[in-house]
Amino acid sequence: MQAHEIAEKIRNAGVVGSGGAGFPTYVKFSSKADIFLVNGAECEPMLKVDQQLMAKYPELLIRGIELGMTATGATEGVICLKEKYKEAIAALTPLLNDHIRIHILKDVYPAGDEVITIWMATGRRVPPGAIPISIGVVVNNPLTLINVARAVDEGMPVITRTLTISGAVHKPLTVTVPIGTSMAQVLAMAGGPTIANPAYLNGGPMMGKLFDDINAPVTKTTGGLLVFPADHILIKRRTISLEHVIKVAKATCDQCSLCTDLCPRHFIGHELPPHLIVRSVIYDDTNKPSTLLSALTCSECAICEAYACPVDISPMRLNVAIKEKLRAESARYEGELYPADPMAEHRLIPSTQLVGRIAVRPYVLDAPLIEDGWEPDSVTLPLSQHIGTPAKPIVSVGDRVRSGQLIATVSPDDLGVPLHASINGHVTAVTAHAISIST
Ligand code: SF4
Ligand code: SF4
Repeated sequence: MQAHEIAEKIRNAGVVGSGGAGFPTYVKFSSKADIFLVNGAECEPMLKVDQQLMAKYPELLIRGIELGMTATGATEGVICLKEKYKEAIAALTPLLNDHIRIHILKDVYPAGDEVITIWMATGRRVPPGAIPISIGVVVNNPLTLINVARAVDEGMPVITRTLTISGAVHKPLTVTVPIGTSMAQVLAMAGGPTIANPAYLNGGPMMGKLFDDINAPVTKTTGGLLVFPADHILIKRRTISLEHVIKVAKATCDQCSLCTDLCPRHFIGHELPPHLIVRSVIYDDTNKPSTLLSALTCSECAICEAYACPVDISPMRLNVAIKEKLRAESARYEGELYPADPMAEHRLIPSTQLVGRIAVRPYVLDAPLIEDGWEPDSVTLPLSQHIGTPAKPIVSVGDRVRSGQLIATVSPDDLGVPLHASINGHVTAVTAHAISIST
């Protein structure tokens, strides 16, 4: 099969990066690379999606890698995962060949940050502000590649999502559900909250986003629904105002620079110095413009906020606010790549220490994978579950649709992917943002 045929099938099936950003996968498959890397680190504590999917669908994962290597011209496939994912390693090992190998990552955070994964597995470093393809590497996560294999070999569109429901719930589990299923329904599958004052994170405890609409739909990029008490430190940090963050920084930052010492982007050679950004903000110091501009290269891994700072300041929150302003001004960061810190490898955070520091140890639980074909009565499918142009509906209220049927498209000239019905039923609403279907 030709590279463009593979990319076209992936696009038609609506495959996007399942790891969080939702970047259309056909674009990556249209690039040229020499290393095709699978990021199976899943370093967010509590999430159990990729490690179980790799164990359950090793053939599909290998097939997805082979297709990726064909499309990109890569001569080396590298599956990065942790030693503790023993079932996945056992399932994948017999399928390896001269061109595809496993790389065992240390059980550290943020091993799943693709820039850090590439550095750990290949020694290559992505320059600040650049993307992996600039150093000849294409990165995808396991679920994305499983979707690729299904799309190319079976013509199967992306209509389900696997996510972990964990934390303060009665029965932590990992489920595969039709896209558009409400978070409330998946929460009910896990027995509901065990606490009276639940708060919810979409994603992992370090990088997950706080949300309060429990009827929001599961999308192609939803990796986890985590439940915590509303007064948990992870929730409180996400709810305090930026003004409060700045006030605390002004009152307590002693410029110890621990946030910079432990910043993964900084220690692999990027400029990004969180302690200097904090100093610039609290003293209104813009002497060195590149300091503030380097906030654009912050990965929002939350190490500076949740682990490094001894006085509970959040340099990351400042970075997020600075990024928003700089992006509105179309600013770009163009700094150089400095030598990596000789101690870099030792500055990664052991997962066991991280879960203690962020107070989630009681919530790091098994969450077994259940895929029993459960179907909701209704789904709501957002038109924008990917980076790029939102999909445009081609169905109307009252239309009957089948699971897998194309319901919204994106012009071939635009970045984006089409959308498919995830259940059989009839269309009950078409808005500027979503299509709803009921059985
Ligand atoms: S770790 Fe905290 S106190 Fe130290 S420089 Fe960074 S923000 Fe300031
Ligand atoms: S969140 Fe903090 S530690 Fe992580 S990349 Fe950004 S500045 Fe560095």
